Amino acid sequence: MRLNRWPAALAALVLLAGCSAPPPEQETQFLALGTLVDVSLYGVPPQQARKLNAGLHRRLDAFTDRWRASGNGALGQINAALDRGERPHVAAGMLPAMRRAQALSKASGGRFQPALGRLIRLWGFDREERPPGPPPAPAAIARLVDSHPDIADLDFTHDEIRGAGPAVQLDFGAFAKGLAVDRAIAWLRSQGVTNAIVNAGGDLRAIGRHGERAWRIGIRHPRQSGYLASLEVEGDESVFTSGDYERYFDYRGRRYHHILDPATGYPSRGFTSVTVIADSGARGDAAATALMVAGPAHWRDVARTMQVDAVMAVDSAGKIHETEAMAKRIHFETDSPPVIAERIP
Ligand code: ADP
Ligand code: MG
Repeated sequence: MRLNRWPAALAALVLLAGCSAPPPEQETQFLALGTLVDVSLYGVPPQQARKLNAGLHRRLDAFTDRWRASGNGALGQINAALDRGERPHVAAGMLPAMRRAQALSKASGGRFQPALGRLIRLWGFDREERPPGPPPAPAAIARLVDSHPDIADLDFTHDEIRGAGPAVQLDFGAFAKGLAVDRAIAWLRSQGVTNAIVNAGGDLRAIGRHGERAWRIGIRHPRQSGYLASLEVEGDESVFTSGDYERYFDYRGRRYHHILDPATGYPSRGFTSVTVIADSGARGDAAATALMVAGPAHWRDVARTMQVDAVMAVDSAGKIHETEAMAKRIHFETDSPPVIAERIP
């Protein structure tokens, strides 16, 4: 009888020991950047992780206010000034990001086009919830397309924006999440963190490792719940996906999604989603959007000029278009593997 008590006491000790050693991975979620942000930190004590997450949350909220296209934030005021035909003053902290967006837009052949604010507003995709109703009138779309807003025309070399005509309103919706994830990782690094993922609704940058193994992440299926594929990331890699399922509205049996082709003024066609692995969130975000616009006909050229070598796209028939570099990295998670339409070096 007495002896029997020992295993129980031992079990209690083991349990206690288990409680006092915190798990090496701390994962937290919060709403920011208009999505669910999921932060994983490896090898950071829980108390420090809580502080870091609170700091990140604050920074991401301030970032969102700053980069929102309308309203009273910095970019909202810039757009209001552009609307009045003025040369808006730009805070020094925003200029490098604008120049970066300009360079990426040029590299994409204007498919990633942050000067498209008027068109995005016309479609109602600037709003959190687009009110139901028909797509814009074709003549109104054509007018904006013919005005050729192009960020390449702007001069960002002073503390004000020069060279913007009346056609230009800035919208960094296709780029800001990438920039935000870059800033988040830079800040975590400055706080001494070496192993982390900042994942903003499926778009992420990862640094370091998950202890003994690489980080493992999932890529959402554009047409089903759950994952299309998974991959392992480590070191410093950004994985970004753009898709027609993120934001859209249906009208009379047709679906209109939020990635617009600057050449037509209508939602891009051909691909339902594009995933890239890039060296930064900014490049990954801009490239995923540009490749959606590029579609099956042009994605290879745009991937090259935007310097992303790992690309996977799903076309409207559900077939995969991918680069060798991506094929080496991903594992499909679907019951039966999808059909590969093309795989290029
Ligand atoms: P998500 O935000 O869902 O990850 P994207 O990164 O592709 O998707 O960004 C889409 C947003 O970018 C749209 O909601 C709109 O604000 C803006 N946008 C739409 N089309 C373009 C385009 N061709 N170039 C630049 N920005 C665009
Ligand atoms: Mg994007």
